Amino acid sequence: MKRNLIAVLIFSFHQVVFSNQLDFVGVGEKNKSYNLEFSLEKTALIVAQSSNSPYSITLEFKETYLKENFDLKLWQNYPIKNIESSTSENNSIIEIFFHKPVTWQKPQQIKTEDGIKVLLSLDHEKEIKKMTREAIVMIDAGHGGRDPGAIAKSHNVIEKDITLLIANELFRTLEDTDGYKPVLVREDDSFIYLDQRYQKARQNSGDIFVSIHADAFSLPSVKGAAVYIWSDEASSNSAKSLSSKKVSSVRVDEFDFDEDLARSKYPEIYEKKKGKSLQLGKKILDQLKRDPYTHLHKKRVEYADFRVLKSLDVPSVLIESGFISNSEDAERLKGKPGRRMIARSLFLGINNYFKENLEDDFFIYDAEGYLTYTVQRGDVLSEIAIRFGVPVMDIINTNLIRDEAIFPGQRIKIKI
Ligand SMILES: [Zn+2]
Repeated sequence: MKRNLIAVLIFSFHQVVFSNQLDFVGVGEKNKSYNLEFSLEKTALIVAQSSNSPYSITLEFKETYLKENFDLKLWQNYPIKNIESSTSENNSIIEIFFHKPVTWQKPQQIKTEDGIKVLLSLDHEKEIKKMTREAIVMIDAGHGGRDPGAIAKSHNVIEKDITLLIANELFRTLEDTDGYKPVLVREDDSFIYLDQRYQKARQNSGDIFVSIHADAFSLPSVKGAAVYIWSDEASSNSAKSLSSKKVSSVRVDEFDFDEDLARSKYPEIYEKKKGKSLQLGKKILDQLKRDPYTHLHKKRVEYADFRVLKSLDVPSVLIESGFISNSEDAERLKGKPGRRMIARSLFLGINNYFKENLEDDFFIYDAEGYLTYTVQRGDVLSEIAIRFGVPVMDIINTNLIRDEAIFPGQRIKIKI
């Protein structure tokens, strides 16, 4: 009797593990770019990396099975040579080989009515010397829609408004700097479940995830910014009370990836993520310490059970940019200069993190170690200097700018 039960259990476990079928759909072409399309039954853990010898991209779809094995020669899709599939334990491996290096983007997983559409974008227009891709930064503006977050009536501030403004400011800097691809988890005043937030990081293959918040407390004297990373056991009482507020609104659907289960299945991946999250948190905190507008509420990176940070493999941090229940913090976050300082600390912290975690195919820095920023309409040099935390004269001298004249589309080098 008992033996039967075990057999049933093993069988059903197998069903769960092997229920995700992977299939190659085809190649879409648009201008000088291709989209390789695959299908899955549900969101998967995909490990994607490129190589320069030979020029190739490897996608490892964890716990999936191939509908059928294939080895396709793609004569008509230069510079793609061929696509091969193989299987290793419970994982399906797809290798794409090229005649020359291409710009690629880590795969997107898009929910459809039938399951998941996986898109791998390849751009082959530019003549480049090695495989190249952008670092994907997920920016999560806390709360939104029917969830206002903290409310400070006396200061006329709502958290969800502040977080979106800071998120947009950070997005802007990353968007206009070479090598980065920022993705906003919410772009407007809409409600998003906590679980959907980290699911979005997985669907967009985020390299890191940054959640932006602002706090409120019963004591109006409490003020300052703090940086948190995820932990089962929160490290401080304040972190605990913060977490309990945020562990509401859970929604995971059948197409989602189970991060909780994955953490116990892949402890090495999770350990690595925890270390990287701490590293990212420290880099951001280091910048906040230098911010002349912002006081720190906590001088170390704190641990909290914030649900949005619980991705298996995407380094994730949450920043409380201040207490809107404190008049000084409320004024700071209501003003553009104060918010811009938070966004700048985030940007510089993120940039310093990637400096220490440069993957072979990133192109954040040029050969001489400069960042490249593309001037936007309405930009003035002094604001660009503030954005990157450098003296205006540095930008003028490096780029031989006369009379502070810059024009939209101009690409300027910045050393930070
Ligand atoms: Zn919040």
